[in-house]
Amino acid sequence: MIVLKFGGTSVKDANALRQVFNIIGSNKEEKIVVLSACSGITDSLIILLNYAWQNQSNAMESTLEKIANHHNQVLQDLLAGRNYYEEAKHSISKLIDELNKFIEGIYFLKETTPRALDKVMSFGELLSTTIFHYYCLSQGLQSVWLDARKFMKTDSNFNSANVDFELSKTGITKYLEQEEFGKVKLAITQGFIGSDLSGRTTTLGRGGSDYSAAIIGNLTNATEIQIWTDVNGILTADPRIANNTKTIEIMEFNEVRQLAYFGAKVLHPNTLLPAIEKGIPIKVLNTFNPTNQGTTIVNYIENPKPKPHSIINIKCIRIDFPLYSYDNFTEKATEILSTISKYDFKVYYSVILPEGLSVWMDKECGYINNFTNACGKYFYELTDQVILLGITGIEFDLRISNKINELLTSYQSNILYQSPKRNLIIIESYDNENIELLNKINDWITHE
Ligand code: ASP
Ligand code: MG
Repeated sequence: MIVLKFGGTSVKDANALRQVFNIIGSNKEEKIVVLSACSGITDSLIILLNYAWQNQSNAMESTLEKIANHHNQVLQDLLAGRNYYEEAKHSISKLIDELNKFIEGIYFLKETTPRALDKVMSFGELLSTTIFHYYCLSQGLQSVWLDARKFMKTDSNFNSANVDFELSKTGITKYLEQEEFGKVKLAITQGFIGSDLSGRTTTLGRGGSDYSAAIIGNLTNATEIQIWTDVNGILTADPRIANNTKTIEIMEFNEVRQLAYFGAKVLHPNTLLPAIEKGIPIKVLNTFNPTNQGTTIVNYIENPKPKPHSIINIKCIRIDFPLYSYDNFTEKATEILSTISKYDFKVYYSVILPEGLSVWMDKECGYINNFTNACGKYFYELTDQVILLGITGIEFDLRISNKINELLTSYQSNILYQSPKRNLIIIESYDNENIELLNKINDWITHE
């Protein structure tokens, strides 16, 4: 059994949903398909709720109309004149009516709650999955529609609820049996939403559909989880700064963690944990280019060979605190670090040596949170325009670091750190040469 999750852009309109249908129709394995709301709809629903409690009736009505029109249009484009059109239209109208009634209630109350927000946001996923379910039926593909609130059991922490895995496991097992999933082999359900122990609608936090997919994979012991987006998996470098990026074929979960930490726009690593913990591989694929092999994320690569996978550019400031006048430089350094940690600075890297403490921190947040105020009582030197280049991969050995050193000749940049886990090398670089160097290293990575 595999779990396939399609994000907002993958289900944004009729054409996108046809793509999704082609993808799921092309293999015969048992599948649970998890969908997001059509892109932009969750945001519109939040806006709708805000207009309602703020008593802005015109804006409220036009926003609701926009949401209704969007789904009616998709429905029309996909199903008009086909089997199941009437049933689908009826279900969509029922959902829109229910949303309308709920919103009117908020309008009269003139107030809202986190619980109301979850209820309102849930319509995005309920609408997209309902349309897609009927589309599958009209194409002769049998599917069962699962209301995720019937099995994804959470606490009552509205807007970012915590999942009860045990209850959810019992829930989904029973539900699949009852719906005869074993015969139909295709289930369609919502990402992002669940319900608390009293049956009230909850959500798992914005962007929570990936998390839903990983949880469902965990609960059903899926053999694979596919996350379908609108890019060719995870790339060797940011295509906005690198010229010849390639899709990373396979990488370890820890690399995703590192990339996310250094600010890359990759899947949120914590959302993948339920799958990773069970050793279920996660594939990141492109709905609009389904033949691209995408990226497979695994806990550990089997029989690993040394290989660099990606390079990331991190804009920093470096702060050097001289410590040679202190007898106990470690104690002083720890004190400074603890002062820094009280503020909202993002520290990428730091090193404590008898001569001093050096800290590389995020440039933007260093300035926004005013570093001078935080550390004014210490003597330090601040260097602007420092760039860290982080290279991730596996089993880095002498050949890899020699190669990097070779690429660094004729540049001012130097290797700053090599992780003892052999999956990360950090280079300290500078504003005038980092892009050129990043491209050189990326070219090497793509040819390794
Ligand atoms: N629709 C939800 C959101 O936009 C969940 C998701 O797309 O992952 O946050
Ligand atoms: Mg999303």
